[in-house]
Amino acid sequence: MKKTVLITGASRGIGAAAAVYFAQNGFDVGINFLKEEKSAKNVLQQVTSLGRKGVLLQADVADPSQAAEMVERAASCFNGIGVLVNNAGVAKQSLFTDVTFEEWNRMFAVNVGGMFNTTASVVPLMVHEKQGAIVNVSSIWGICGASCEVHYSAAKAAVIGASKALAKELAPSNIRVNCVAPGVIDTDMNSNLLPEDLECLKEETPLGIIGTALDVAKSIFFLASDSLAPFITGQVLSPNGGFIM
Ligand code: NAD
Repeated sequence: MKKTVLITGASRGIGAAAAVYFAQNGFDVGINFLKEEKSAKNVLQQVTSLGRKGVLLQADVADPSQAAEMVERAASCFNGIGVLVNNAGVAKQSLFTDVTFEEWNRMFAVNVGGMFNTTASVVPLMVHEKQGAIVNVSSIWGICGASCEVHYSAAKAAVIGASKALAKELAPSNIRVNCVAPGVIDTDMNSNLLPEDLECLKEETPLGIIGTALDVAKSIFFLASDSLAPFITGQVLSPNGGFIM
């Protein structure tokens, strides 16, 4: 497998942790970001200080042409893409009856459309090489559903369905497709949670802790690695401290 990875939404949180973890394990890294150029540059600096190549790729993954251009740039910088991590995502808490159709569509445009747009450009390259691994970032809420996050839960369930179907379609081309479905992770996405909410979530988690971005990065790397997970495709790995089993 080519030791090159393209990670969407890699300026912070899980994506940034994955970028550094892949670099620590010998990968050159395409670092996609939407707006946070300063944070993305910081991730790039960490990647290059590990002796790996990195490239900053600004793109809104929900925009098909921006996603296609991003993939083209990453592929030409690294002479191919060995691993794609579709991590970029948005979440929002709203009562179902408060969600407008526009908000519903935007939730899908980023979480599902972003995965589609990026993957659609990467797959022909991987098929040509007859190798590759794709890891899509879903959520436990895509498995068990979250109250006040119906649109997010539905979008993350779609990510799982698409990953399983794509795994079947791409297996003959020696391309593995898997999902991680993290539990509650300490990133900016959860910055709106009150300390008492976090305490409740910890209490409901058998391991009694909130996960870190690095915990998820390790699961992503495991699924992406041809030496660690050569026989694993179409699966969902859920780093969640036992929150759901
Ligand atoms: P985060 O908000 O810190 O990171 C999300 C990243 O996605 C950011 O870098 C953001 O700029 C980027 N992004 C958003 N829209 C984008 C777009 N249109 N184009 C390109 N990039 C875009 O949150 P995180 O926790 O690191 O989330 C990473 C992934 O993990 C998301 O898919 C999220 O749904 C999923 N997830 C997070 C948790 C959690 O508890 N934090 C749990 C389960 C799943």
